Amino acid sequence: MNRNQNQLIARLPDALLPWYEKNARKLPWRETKHPYAVWLSEIMLQQTRVEAVKQYYARFLETYPTIEALAQANEATLMKLWEGLGYYSRARNLQKAASVIMEQFGGVFPTQYDAILSLPGIGAYTAGAISSICFGLPTPAVDGNVLRVVSRICEIDETLTSAPFKKDVHEALLAVYPKEAPGDFTQALMELGATVCLPNGAPLCDCCPASEFCRSNLHGTQKKYPPKAEKKPRRKEYLTVFLLQCGEYFAVNKRPASGLLRGLWEFPNTKGLLCKEDAAAYLEQKGVKPKDILLSVLRNHIFTHVEWTMNGYLFTCDAMPECFTWVTGEQLFNEIALPTAFKQFAELLP
Ligand code: SF4
Repeated sequence: MNRNQNQLIARLPDALLPWYEKNARKLPWRETKHPYAVWLSEIMLQQTRVEAVKQYYARFLETYPTIEALAQANEATLMKLWEGLGYYSRARNLQKAASVIMEQFGGVFPTQYDAILSLPGIGAYTAGAISSICFGLPTPAVDGNVLRVVSRICEIDETLTSAPFKKDVHEALLAVYPKEAPGDFTQALMELGATVCLPNGAPLCDCCPASEFCRSNLHGTQKKYPPKAEKKPRRKEYLTVFLLQCGEYFAVNKRPASGLLRGLWEFPNTKGLLCKEDAAAYLEQKGVKPKDILLSVLRNHIFTHVEWTMNGYLFTCDAMPECFTWVTGEQLFNEIALPTAFKQFAELLP
């Protein structure tokens, strides 16, 4: 970044801190500086909206109130608690990191940036956020929100995926981090990106504490910055999903230990969109003895890199072959973790 751009960045602490003090949203994780709670909120907020996170955050802390409790968590309960949030590796890494804290840090959350960064599932952004918010260290937390704000303020023609841009912003912020309020500055930048300098559409420049010196606002170039990165089209996959009901039991499978949705539960399924007759024939082969089709629906689910189109059939059947696990409706809804791609079918069950 050039000298002028660094000068603009240097104006941020004085502009943002008073604004944040007045305008910060009241969020449950802002009521504490406990590193366990802040860490949990930062992990949950990755890829997930604030409103959706609130209830998960409260339930998670109720179930696992300490790092020790999380380290000892039963995997099935942990996955069930995370059900619907997606990106399940976040939950697995939380537990791995909790175990590392118990084993290597005597059960106490580490206070140094490098030690925090060494924990499973914690990258530079999360380590910067925890270190500044909980331990008062001047450690920038640079994510897409912050890059967007800086790109607009300084009119920088770099996409949000550019690693050199991210490094430059980290360094420029590091040089101006306010020693008296590093945590508030981290949160002020996040808050500005989340509530004022919005992505996809017009930012709310009239309410922005940086509007006086923001180059995009002064030049009317907000839509130009940041430039959009070229997106690879999502891979499309087609599946037939079987909702098999035998009396009060429903068939489920555990997914493989690696790959997409690893280790979670699913309804039995096969590749391709089968017609009713082919679906029934497939089930015969599996020994299911299908009777009636009660429902036939088409559903979609979008993952980061893949899009599933799924044909779902609800069959009643006369046999419960051992190639599937058979659970009651109570177990299906209250005990096993069904990812959203399949949960949408469970919601159709009688
Ligand atoms: S003035 Fe507008 S474009 Fe500039 S940082 Fe504020 S909200 Fe973003």
